Amino acid sequence: MLIVFLGPPGAGKGTQAVRLSEYLGVPHLSTGAMLRQAKREQTPHGVLAASFMDGGGLVPDWLAVDVVDDRLQDADCNAGCLFDGFPRTVPQAEELDAMLARRGRRLDVALDLVVACEELVRRLHSRARKEDRADDTPEAIRHRLKVYQERTTPLTDYYERVGILRPIDGMGSPDETFAQIKQAVDGRRSFPCPNCPPGPS
Ligand code: AMP
Repeated sequence: MLIVFLGPPGAGKGTQAVRLSEYLGVPHLSTGAMLRQAKREQTPHGVLAASFMDGGGLVPDWLAVDVVDDRLQDADCNAGCLFDGFPRTVPQAEELDAMLARRGRRLDVALDLVVACEELVRRLHSRARKEDRADDTPEAIRHRLKVYQERTTPLTDYYERVGILRPIDGMGSPDETFAQIKQAVDGRRSFPCPNCPPGPS
């Protein structure tokens, strides 16, 4: 199963994505985590990404697309995967469709975790106190929310048009949110038939 997970910073997307990837048994591809690792390892991609990430801006589309395209070569993605933090822009969404089409596949569902703005700010400030992320300063938080609004929210229209958008209310407890997510993906899940030849998910 191939799933895109949309939702603004602070919506709890990371936590829910880990749970969902365990539930479905597919890898969790977080471009944020992959870019932070590249940054720590000081790879050429990581060094370039750092300047954009620390201020709360997006890395260039081609860079995010490259990171995902590389990761999709790994055999563990054959059964499907969960994209967290990717795509973040309409051009990235178009590239993702093209990348999957080259592999004879397409997305099954786009989950959109919806949380009110004041609650996002509260959660982000609380996370900033607990973790030491360079992009969780008050200025960077404001900037990331603005960037999300401007660059990523158009994706809800994009996936609505394709007919795979599923809004999820993220204001409740993590368990309540996950129950809705399960419901949204269970409706789209196809279980492998032991007698059928393997094909695209
Ligand atoms: P995240 O952990 O998803 O909040 O991502 C942390 C940071 O990594 C973002 O604020 C961006 O700077 C960068 N990033 C992650 N994914 C993408 C993406 N798909 N496109 C552009 N920048 C990204």
